[in-house]
Amino acid sequence: LYDAKVIGADGVHSKVRAALQKVLPSLQVSSSPWINEYRVLFGEVGKMSDKLDPKLHYVMGGIYTSTIENNGQQQWALQTFHRHIPGNENNPSTIVMADTASPENIAALKAWVGSYAPEFLAIVPEEEFTDYFSRRTYRGSMVECTRLQYQDFVLLLGDAGHSLLPASGEGINCALEDSEILAQSILANPEAPFSTFEASRMPDLKALHQWAAHLNSAPSWAGEKAARDMFTSMESRSSESLLNHLFGSKASGRAPYREIMTSWSTKKLFLLNFARIIAYPKAIITSALLAFQSWLRGGSRGLKTIAA
Ligand SMILES: Cc1cc2nc3c(=O)[nH]c(=O)nc-3n(C[C@H](O)[C@H](O)[C@H](O)COP(=O)(O)OP(=O)(O)OC[C@H]3O[C@@H](n4cnc5c(N)ncnc54)[C@H](O)[C@@H]3O)c2cc1C
Repeated sequence: LYDAKVIGADGVHSKVRAALQKVLPSLQVSSSPWINEYRVLFGEVGKMSDKLDPKLHYVMGGIYTSTIENNGQQQWALQTFHRHIPGNENNPSTIVMADTASPENIAALKAWVGSYAPEFLAIVPEEEFTDYFSRRTYRGSMVECTRLQYQDFVLLLGDAGHSLLPASGEGINCALEDSEILAQSILANPEAPFSTFEASRMPDLKALHQWAAHLNSAPSWAGEKAARDMFTSMESRSSESLLNHLFGSKASGRAPYREIMTSWSTKKLFLLNFARIIAYPKAIITSALLAFQSWLRGGSRGLKTIAA
C-alpha cells in the first residue's frame, strides 16, 4: 500500500475529487453551469444519407451532428440545444425543453431542425419526433480545480480535474494530452510524478479555462454581441488564429494551450475593444431609432384614439 498510487480519471462528477477535497483545503473546485441545454434527436439505425459524410462532424451554429455505433450499425445523431441567455426566451430552440409531443411541438421541432439541417430530417423516423419529447435534456458544468494532486499519492486526470463545455471541442484532446504529460512526468521524475505533472499542466489548464469561460458567457446587449462577432471574425482570419491552432492546419503542431490562449487573449484585448468602438455607437443609434419609431407609433395611435 505504501507504494500504491491513485489516479482519479472518473469524469466530471469524480468521487476521487470529492474525497480529495475533504483532506486538501488548498483544493478549491469552482463549477459553472453550461449556458447550453442539450437533447439528442436520433436518425434511423443504420440509415445513411448520400448528402451526409459520417466522417464529418457538422456544426451548424452550435447544433451539431455525430454518428454513433448502435449494435454494429451506424446511426446519425443531432445534438439540439437551447442557450440560456436573456433575450432568448422566444427562440425556436426553446422546443428543446418542451416535454409534450403535441402536434404543435412536433411541427415546431421539424421546422426548427429543417431550418438548420434539412438533410438530417430525411433520415429521422417519424416516431422519433414523438420520442424526442420524452427524452431527458442534459446540462453540464465547467469544473476548474486549484490543485490536481495530493502528496504524489492521488492525481486527478481528465474531466475529474478539469471539465470544459462541448462547444470548446477540447475535452477529449485535453484528457488525452493529460495522459501523455503524465507519462512524460513519470519518466522525468519517477519519485514525484504527480507533482511534476501538476506543475507542468496547471498553466495550460488555467489558459484553457479562460477561453472556455468566454465561450460559456453570452452577452444579451446587441452592441456587445455585435462586437464579439466582429472580434471572432477578425481573429479567425489569421493563420495564427485560435481555431486554426486547435482544429485547423496548425493543430498537428500541438502548441501548448498556454501559448495559443496567450496569443488569443492579447488579440482579444485589442481587437475586441476596437470592435466595441465600432459596434457600440451603431447599436446605441439603432436602439434609439427603434425606440423613437415605437414612440411615434404609440403617439399616432394616441392621436387616432382622440380623433375617434
Ligand atoms: C454532451 C457532451 C458533449 C461533448 N462534446 C465534446 C466534443 O465535441 N469534443 C470533445 O473533445 N469533448 C467533448 N465532450 C467532453 C468529453 O466527453 C470529455 O472531456 C471526455 O470524455 C473526458 O474524458 P475522461 O476520461 O476524463 O472522462 P469520462 O469520459 O467521463 O470517463 C470517466 C469514466 O469513469 C467512469 N466512472 C465514474 N465513476 C466511477 C466509479 N465510481 N467507478 C468506476 N468507474 C467510474 C465513468 O463511467 C466513465 O466511463 C463532451 C461532453 C459532453 C457531456
